[in-house]
Amino acid sequence: MKQFDPTPEQLAVINHRGSHALVFAGPGTGKTETLARRFASLVADDGVDPGAILVLTFSRRAAEQMLERVLLRLRQRTGHELAVSELFVKTFHSFCARLLDGDGPRIYERNLLTPIKERLLWKGVAQRTELRSFEEDVRTSPAFATDALNLIAQLKGQGVEPEMLRDAAGSDPRLRDIAALYAALDSDRKRLNLSDFRDLVKDALAALADSGSPASRWLRGRGGFRHILVDEFQDSDRLQLRLLEALAGPDPARANPVPEICFVGDFNQSIYRFRGATPENIAEARTTFACRVLTLQTNRRSGQAILDVANATPGLDSKSKTDAEDPTNRGSVRLVRATRPDAEIAGVCDAVAGFLAAGTPAREIAVLLRASEPYTSLIVAQLDARGIPVAARPTAGFLDDPAVDAVLTTLRLCADVENADLWTRLLSNPLIGFGRLSVRLAFDAARRTYVKNAFVALTDNPPVGVRPFEDFLRAWRHVERESERADVASLVATIVREFDLLRPVRESAASPAAPIPGWDPRSSPSRVGALVEAARDLVATSRALGQGRVHYGRFVDDIEEIAGLLSDPFAGPAQESDGVRVMSIHAAKGLEFDVVIVPQAIDGVLPQHERGHALLTGASRLAVTRVAPAIFARENDAYQEECSLWYVALTRARRDVLITASAADDDDIELPLSPFTRPIVNRSEAHVRADGVMARPREAGTTDALPQPRSPIVYAVDHLSPSSVERFLACPRRFFYKDVLRLEVERDEETTLLGSILHAALAEFHATERVFTPAIEMSGAKERWREALLAHVERATPISAAKAGFRSDSSFVRYQLALARRFAENYAEWLVAETMRAPFDVLACEQQLVSNIGGVPFMGRADRIDRLLSGGLVIRDYKSGKAKPSSLRAVRAALELIDRGELVAGDAPDGLTLQLLTYVPGAEALFNERVARVEYLYARDKDGAQTITTDTVAIVDALEAADASAITRLELNRVLLEIGAAPARALAAGDYRAFWTAREIQTCRFCDFVRTCPGALAVAP
Ligand code: SF4
Repeated sequence: MKQFDPTPEQLAVINHRGSHALVFAGPGTGKTETLARRFASLVADDGVDPGAILVLTFSRRAAEQMLERVLLRLRQRTGHELAVSELFVKTFHSFCARLLDGDGPRIYERNLLTPIKERLLWKGVAQRTELRSFEEDVRTSPAFATDALNLIAQLKGQGVEPEMLRDAAGSDPRLRDIAALYAALDSDRKRLNLSDFRDLVKDALAALADSGSPASRWLRGRGGFRHILVDEFQDSDRLQLRLLEALAGPDPARANPVPEICFVGDFNQSIYRFRGATPENIAEARTTFACRVLTLQTNRRSGQAILDVANATPGLDSKSKTDAEDPTNRGSVRLVRATRPDAEIAGVCDAVAGFLAAGTPAREIAVLLRASEPYTSLIVAQLDARGIPVAARPTAGFLDDPAVDAVLTTLRLCADVENADLWTRLLSNPLIGFGRLSVRLAFDAARRTYVKNAFVALTDNPPVGVRPFEDFLRAWRHVERESERADVASLVATIVREFDLLRPVRESAASPAAPIPGWDPRSSPSRVGALVEAARDLVATSRALGQGRVHYGRFVDDIEEIAGLLSDPFAGPAQESDGVRVMSIHAAKGLEFDVVIVPQAIDGVLPQHERGHALLTGASRLAVTRVAPAIFARENDAYQEECSLWYVALTRARRDVLITASAADDDDIELPLSPFTRPIVNRSEAHVRADGVMARPREAGTTDALPQPRSPIVYAVDHLSPSSVERFLACPRRFFYKDVLRLEVERDEETTLLGSILHAALAEFHATERVFTPAIEMSGAKERWREALLAHVERATPISAAKAGFRSDSSFVRYQLALARRFAENYAEWLVAETMRAPFDVLACEQQLVSNIGGVPFMGRADRIDRLLSGGLVIRDYKSGKAKPSSLRAVRAALELIDRGELVAGDAPDGLTLQLLTYVPGAEALFNERVARVEYLYARDKDGAQTITTDTVAIVDALEAADASAITRLELNRVLLEIGAAPARALAAGDYRAFWTAREIQTCRFCDFVRTCPGALAVAP
């Protein structure tokens, strides 16, 4: 194992004592090594008993690696060899199981709820539970089972019990159905005394809460743990955090805590939220445990060029961004665009061949994919065809494995013994060993003597193979007898034994045998084992459910579904397996390679845009978040997880990264380049470049990443609206689709319903309530306005809901109504305060305005225009969402960009909106009075809390703005002309050569044209 001198930051983690610690550990910073050395230091320097240190990981592989490293460092520091049983280096689940066992003999009889047992329970539950919203064919489908069980697993991880979900569901029929299924499944699980991994944590928590439980007694008896080291903390879920809190005792934030917990995690590598991981735990633990924050940022793995691109990934937490320890170690990052997917796949395989030819070992090359299929299969097939070894994937080829095929064909034959095709298939299986031609000749000979029975045909004309046919027949008769009386578990075991399907294992142990087609010495034995286990699970569960003997026919019928459950779809190839790694980015977490190739760097693939839930509507999801706020990634979190996937993929590489992307799909539809590639496109140094060169000179099928120049565009805009200007500022390509091509967009009624309710209610309210000056009776005004507003909200809600196509009694509409009511209450308060602070009269609501700006007509509708008692107009606009950054600051930033000769459109400063400023000339013309200020009223503050927040821009006549909240008339005119009217004037003059695309991928997230557009950065100005 590689020795290393700890860096100062690693020493800080190793030697930290006296408080809990939260270590932000970036990729390649040696966190396993650092934790192992901390363990050894606690033992060797502080005299801590090794058994009093608990190390928790999230996977068995990580626990094994950690244990190996801890033993090594302990040996080095103490000079003693420790037995594994003395150490507590465990996964969360195995630790919980140990905890539940308590003292002495293992008294807690756990029966693990394997995925197969769970699926069997599910089938019964899905059939007998009365559901309102899922049809019969849906509820019995494997896809429904997978989606529903995933959701239930996530809920469990957040500590949500079936009853909690039922209560949160209200009248939402889908959620009520899921809650009913969850309850029925949980009841069966408890009745059969089965537990899955999450149940183990839950049970352990319950046991720790009971001071008389075996778990509590055991923990007390051994004096608890003095130190806890938690690896990959970003992958923890709520229950796991609660478990750590329980272990920490009543005052987790005290000084010199016992146990002292060292949390190690990397928010930037959080990619398992869909499995229940809750990266918010990092922030929560920091506060709850009053952690000292430490960082590991020296990267000993990747070249700096790779890290430069990885560190440019949006939204990273800077505390765990890393830099190469040796900055002269640059590494390389290249981006290649191919014309079509087949050219891209060929290019990837060329590159692999090139790296191999240059001396990189096959196992040091990884092809990492965001969306596995069909690319994975196509790349593997092409590598296979070129004779390039590919590491075996546990999930691939299960049903094609000759041992598995022999078992399944035999089971089918038991039910259909005269089927000649099945006999041919079984006998010619390479593990059974009869020649296909010989079997066919046997059937031909039988046919000539009019023998139709397949079995008789074979016994009359024995085929020739690696063993006498008589031997095979003897084995077959045993199998046949077993099929008549035994259950499928015994039958599968009998087939494996009688046909000696594990013979290659024995033979290769004695002497290397000739390769058997399809047999993989690293994965075939475990596949046979998994098949036997699956059959046992089926039998055990059926017995427990009182369903009697399990016929093998049922096993065969369900085998495809069962095969899909036998291994983790996100697992990578076995470590000992040789060959090029072709796998998902998820599977690559924690691994490293000399070379990483990331195909399909396409916007929509990486990052994925949509993560609609297969089972739940938006309203159902909202209801779920009331009991499990972390369960559904908020829009931003989902995008952040895509960023993390990109970051994880890149930081697996030590030396070379190759990114590939097809320019168009098989139907010639343009494919947008992933915005994550922007740092590559924007750099031209030798180590980081966008070009068409793979591992060998460019050839047909690859193209440059950068677009070609175009002719000037001349287009006459007849008028502009504030929203068309905003579209242009956000992305000229979006303006092109909507305002030039006039493409229809689907309204997202879910996101606009609250706005519609508020606008309708406020328009009605201010139709009668117009005076907000001390002239009115102020006592009781707030209550009066509040009641009137609430009444308008109640009236507007069903009307707006009906227009948007929602049922008024749906939980979504009820939730929107609750938000609107809250707004009404806040607004009444705001009105009272504003009446005291800056009294006004309402002049107009929903007022149509036309402004002429530099010869370009602007049309729009102002939500409200007020006249201040102190003089001057106020134009106000209601916003139902979260407050944006100051519009004035954004306007000034935009003017600075213009002053520097830079383009604003497509890369506009955050919060830039001209909406109310463009109304100013029209309002002044209509009311013949100066506008003193414009004001946006947001329903929520920037953190999302429901409180009215204003963004006000005063308009002053002075040459210089009086303060940061005012704009001068001079600036206003510049804004209107140089930003507002500029696109129309430039398009008329033919100043643009393209409707270029946005520069930031975030801009595309709320765009209606993601399916039409090549995406951010695809088209240059
Ligand atoms: S998808 Fe992105 S680049 Fe394309 S139009 Fe929309 S915002 Fe612009």
